[in-house]
Amino acid sequence: MDKVVALAKRRGFIYPSSEIYGGIAGFWDYGPLGTELKRNIKNEWWKSMVQLRDDVVGLDASVIMNPEVWKASGHLEAFTDPLIECKVCHKRFRADKKEEVKEHEKEHAGKKTEWTEAKHFNLLTEVYLGVTEPKLKTYLRGEITQGVFVNFKNVVDSTRVKIPFGIAQVGKAFRNEITPGNFTYRSREFEQMELEFFIKPDETEGQKWFDYWKEQRMQWYTGLGMKKANLRFRDHHDDERAHYARSATDIEFHAPIGWSEFEGIHHRGEWDLSRHKLTYKDEDNTEYTPWVIETSGGVDRSTLFFLLNAYHEDDKRLILKLHPKLAPYKAAVFPLLANKEEMVDVARKIYDNVRGEIMVAWDDRGNIGKRYAAQDEIGTPYCITVDYQSLEDGTVTLRDRDSAEQKRIPKDTVLSLIKDQLL
Ligand code: ATP
Repeated sequence: MDKVVALAKRRGFIYPSSEIYGGIAGFWDYGPLGTELKRNIKNEWWKSMVQLRDDVVGLDASVIMNPEVWKASGHLEAFTDPLIECKVCHKRFRADKKEEVKEHEKEHAGKKTEWTEAKHFNLLTEVYLGVTEPKLKTYLRGEITQGVFVNFKNVVDSTRVKIPFGIAQVGKAFRNEITPGNFTYRSREFEQMELEFFIKPDETEGQKWFDYWKEQRMQWYTGLGMKKANLRFRDHHDDERAHYARSATDIEFHAPIGWSEFEGIHHRGEWDLSRHKLTYKDEDNTEYTPWVIETSGGVDRSTLFFLLNAYHEDDKRLILKLHPKLAPYKAAVFPLLANKEEMVDVARKIYDNVRGEIMVAWDDRGNIGKRYAAQDEIGTPYCITVDYQSLEDGTVTLRDRDSAEQKRIPKDTVLSLIKDQLL
């Protein structure tokens, strides 16, 4: 983890928020490369969940909503975490994170660790609107989900969706976490990518779609290069399920901090729509409250886990083996020598031709080995070098990140070759 945190800072993936003022716990800024990586993850998610499907539409709801939403959804009452404090060293922990609590007890081996009683804290972040008293007290959304439910009727009335169908959304959520930490893993501001899939209220349907979405989501991660050995499902026990969930499973990643959740698949039953008093009418005019299967992924946790999954170091090289679809730059273009005008011209033409379609880096500094190394550690799958031979026969070298092998290809085929890897 420390190595990835250091790389993220050094190469401009992720910085502590407001760092020049000492930072602020639980907030992070994405640098130039982190912004690309995170955007690529969100775009791939959108493509697979909305663009390629007939049964899912998108939504972009507001972060702040009428506070009644949070009353109805049960969050004002039940969106809490239990805080306990170690009486020996006054460190604070979440009582429901049993592994971390056990770990801490081990640190005090010999002495018996005493804990304070668990106090429950609501995770919603309060905001006050208006300029005159009394101001309207409301909340930054603690999950993006509710924006979908309160728009259920709007979407049904304004589009041609029919059950079963889904509404997908990507956006920021805020939680006043009591123990932010582990880099971006537990932040107070983070992004979620979620699908709410509406189905008939029927046990068999519920099980079918729950299993279906579990598989879809797992395949999406492995399809983008997550190693199967790094992933597993973990079903929630009865005592840990959220207030809305009938059944729930997490997709966990084998992180240096232990197996860690980064996506939840939840069977929310009729909880939300019934709380918002929303129903659906079938073609034959039968009215019912649909059930909901939800897939709720964290963009920041995925970004972190894609980075950890891709990190590779041996005695020769440090490589981020990111899937080409996720890599911030798909290729880098180099003139072998920066002071050879002809070489720079040819390279610049290739660069200008390619950059209209894919993110591509330009580098003409230092020796070529260092340039390759710099691209390896940010995950650029291909490097294209214009050299002396290029000026004679119109070919360039194409170097592969993972194998470090080079081959010569005609310069006009560069773009199509790289684009093939992105399909
Ligand atoms: P945890 O038990 O770790 O607090 P959770 O079970 O409360 O997480 P959900 O409410 O299911 O999480 O949220 C869905 C997803 O949103 C999580 O799988 C995670 O990827 C992301 N997420 C939730 N809380 C945070 C956070 N504080 N920081 C970053 N991502 C988060």
